Amino acid sequence: MSNTPTHSIERIGRSIYPLRVFGFILFGISILLSHSKTESPMDTWSILGLITCVVYPHLAYLSYLRNELRETEIRHMQVDMALIGAISALIHFTPAIVLPYLIANSAANYALRGMQQVVKGLALAFVSALLVGLFLNQTIVHETQPVELLGPFFYLIIVTHYMGHLAYTRGISLLKRKEEAEKMAHLDFLTGLINRRSLFQQIRQNDTQTDAETPDTTTIIMVDLDYFKQVNDTHGHDHGDAVLVQVSRLLKNSLRDTDLVARWGGEEFLVLLPKTNHKQGMMVAEGLREKVANGVFSHDGIDHKITLTLGVASYTCESDFQQTIQLADKALYEGKQFGRNRVVSADDGSSVRETLPCKSKAKDATPA
Ligand code: GH3
Ligand code: MG
Ligand code: MG
Repeated sequence: MSNTPTHSIERIGRSIYPLRVFGFILFGISILLSHSKTESPMDTWSILGLITCVVYPHLAYLSYLRNELRETEIRHMQVDMALIGAISALIHFTPAIVLPYLIANSAANYALRGMQQVVKGLALAFVSALLVGLFLNQTIVHETQPVELLGPFFYLIIVTHYMGHLAYTRGISLLKRKEEAEKMAHLDFLTGLINRRSLFQQIRQNDTQTDAETPDTTTIIMVDLDYFKQVNDTHGHDHGDAVLVQVSRLLKNSLRDTDLVARWGGEEFLVLLPKTNHKQGMMVAEGLREKVANGVFSHDGIDHKITLTLGVASYTCESDFQQTIQLADKALYEGKQFGRNRVVSADDGSSVRETLPCKSKAKDATPA
């Protein structure tokens, strides 16, 4: 089975590889410069240190390629810290040279795994520095030549900025994914219409935007596809899905931009017509019914004829929206009973209120 990384952070070892090569080459140069400063000849341990600086980054990369996971890279970063400790001993613990390497790698450890990784890394560096220092009986040299500082500080700048860049790009991509997820949470997966939850949110918005001084009626239409189960049963679920998508598109394209159409669930849709009185809403519903009844919905070379039953109810800012939905639902149910492919009004005088401005209604409310 392949270990193909699924997430960009799992590929971290690839982007760290050039940095590691670069850093260890600079560290190797630090060993050479340290010897020239103390005027001591290169001993076996320093040569071993140099070879490690050249070879280790490639070995780490090869090991990473065998198991391309963040965990692998995290282990390598701990090895880096142990090596930094050991090489620090080789270059006589000179603080101005050792500290930039330690700080840069520690920051990288923090970025990748947090404080625990930092503490572990520093402990490893400390222990290896102590062991190698004691083993070689190494003295501490504080003095530095300016040229010795170039490599470590250059490395510090590069690594800390690279980590900043990683954090920044990760932040941006997380933000994008969050926005995407929020958008998807409001949409129906199959039809791309808004879902029930989003419709409720938008209704609340519609109601708060209603101008209390003007008589606003909102009309809702509950839509259900007739005998839709037969499409699935006869031709399969993918035909059913395709028909649902095409019908929802037709509904949406037949409405104004200010109208809303949501997938209410299954093969049911809810249309919301702001600033539309009941009579106008009935006309819109009839238009939708005709369009769908006259349309042909094709999938895989098969034409499907579809009809709708629609229940229409209206409300003003003083009516209860949930109740209006129930009335539209009841009207829809009646439409099914009467034979389907029809528009039924819930207007029995209870759902459609007079269209007086809401404010004056509240003030001048007098029984009819
Ligand atoms: P009626 O005229 O009484 O509404 O009959 P109907 O067959 O449309 O109603 P029923 O409630 O018996 O069946 C609804 C069907 O809608 C059953 C269900 O499988 C199908 N359905 C609901 N959601 C989906 C969907 O997302 N995709 C597909 N393909 N079918 C769906
Ligand atoms: Mg239904
Ligand atoms: Mg149905």
